[in-house]
Amino acid sequence: MNYYSTNRQSPAVDFREAAIRGQAPDRGLYFPERIPQVDPEIIRRLADFSPEEIAFRVIRPYTGDTIDEATLYRIVSETVNFPIPLVPVTDRIASLELFHGPTLAFKDIGARFMSRCLGHFTRGEKQKITVLVATSGDTGGAVANGFYQVEGVEVVILYPSGKVSPVQEKQLTTLGHNIHALEVAGSFDDCQAMVKQAFADEELCRQRFLTSANSINVARWLPQQFYYFFALRQWQYPGQPPVIAVPSGNFGNICAGMLAMQSGLPVQHFIAACNRNDIVSAYLEGGELLPRMAVPTLSNAMDVGNPSNFIRIQELFGKVFPLLKAKLSSATITDEETEDTIEKVFRQTGYLLDPHGAVGFLALERYLQAASGAKGFFLETAHPVKFPEAVERITGKPIPVPDTLAPMMEREKQSIFIHPGYQHLKDYLMA
Ligand SMILES: *Cc1c(COP(=O)(O)O)cnc(C)c1O
Repeated sequence: MNYYSTNRQSPAVDFREAAIRGQAPDRGLYFPERIPQVDPEIIRRLADFSPEEIAFRVIRPYTGDTIDEATLYRIVSETVNFPIPLVPVTDRIASLELFHGPTLAFKDIGARFMSRCLGHFTRGEKQKITVLVATSGDTGGAVANGFYQVEGVEVVILYPSGKVSPVQEKQLTTLGHNIHALEVAGSFDDCQAMVKQAFADEELCRQRFLTSANSINVARWLPQQFYYFFALRQWQYPGQPPVIAVPSGNFGNICAGMLAMQSGLPVQHFIAACNRNDIVSAYLEGGELLPRMAVPTLSNAMDVGNPSNFIRIQELFGKVFPLLKAKLSSATITDEETEDTIEKVFRQTGYLLDPHGAVGFLALERYLQAASGAKGFFLETAHPVKFPEAVERITGKPIPVPDTLAPMMEREKQSIFIHPGYQHLKDYLMA
């Protein structure tokens, strides 16, 4: 399998090259040259296969001969080694809980798969790879955890001092070993700007082999298909495919779901559940795709003004708008509606949503009201304990901290404090 660049100005590459590079040299996104079909017999009998087997069969055509079968099987087994349950919330709506991984957010799955692939690809190479990321919260934690103790890979994470939640900061700064946290006395935009300059710095790139771990990397994007298959494996209504609502920011997660559908997974419809950062809604109503500055919301991991993965969804439908529109709608949910939904669902069902999941729940509920008889699920992308202030204020109750988190909260923060400005980052990386 080869991957072409969506800008079509760079040569096609295999999975190894695409995963190591991240973005194509022409600044396009890598996209598979064909969409492999999953054996219909497997789709009919999903419940007869283990999650590892399903994941292996889904990803195998994408990695081609860049990873041998035994290694690939080990990688997927380590990627999906925690539960991903589909939990009923109402009689028509279920929650696909993606927050049972080590950092309590769905990004664990992509980060765990990508880290192990890179570790495999750099084995035996003299030069180590340095993964450089700027984070506003969740990405950094998942990447840190995913790459922890992966040989041949050093991870450098920049985060804005005082602007990530206490749980998120602990996830970034307490691992040590090959994970290095730089606490920047500035904003997320400062961190992002420093990282971008590093990638453009030829002198630095001669000395260190840099790569990024953001969601445009195929090794993070493609494994996100797995849990859509796992959801269908637990789906109780054969013959009635689900409507799926995906809380969306950069649109990598929903795009993976749509790819799974194009590979044969039965899905009735997708809903991109957005907060006020909803440029895709305007596009789907017949307008243009116009990037905007992101505005801050309660569901802050979705505060994206220019969703980079949307181009992949267009690519999936051969850029034919009516085909895309038949399978995808979107909904815009305000912060006030998010809060009301957390409160209402908790009061009526006892189920505790995080702000991202709440956006997904309400978008799905609205869609189902107009689609009689249909049923569906939303992706619960993070554990509510990651957003305790909002959730506890609304429900009036403290959120029980999962056992896995308690020891981490005791550990000491290890970070290197630096001032904003590229030279500070360069000095650190060259040293
Ligand atoms: C990253 C993230 C999202 C958005 O996912 P995309 O793939 O960027 O659309 C939603 N919810 C949570 C909790 C996230 O961390």
